[in-house]
Amino acid sequence: MILGRNSQCWCGSGLKYKNCHEAFDEKIEEYKRHGYKVPGHNLIKTPEQIEKIKKSAVINRACLDHVAKNIRAGISTQEIDDWVSKITKDMGGIPATLLVVFRRKQIDNVPASLEREMDRKRKK
Ligand SMILES: [Zn+2]
Repeated sequence: MILGRNSQCWCGSGLKYKNCHEAFDEKIEEYKRHGYKVPGHNLIKTPEQIEKIKKSAVINRACLDHVAKNIRAGISTQEIDDWVSKITKDMGGIPATLLVVFRRKQIDNVPASLEREMDRKRKK
């Protein structure tokens, strides 16, 4: 991206580029010249996005605290899913179920009993 130093910065801050991200971009370009893989501007978050990420982290922490406090032998993944879903909704978030994570095969070595439960859920 080629921006004039006096142009508005690409980040949406409303500041001139030279007073905002110019030094940052130069540093990133230097890393790139040295062969490092560098993030694009699309990975850099706006203040609004950062606030949403912080809110999401509060909900995530509440979910993990609840699960850590209540989990015991015999709890099904569905029960955990229900806890997390309820807490997330109660706190204004949009829950993503555990089963979605498993379906995406982000977790290896899914136990056979869990595979069966996932199949049962898929057929519903
Ligand atoms: Zn900027």
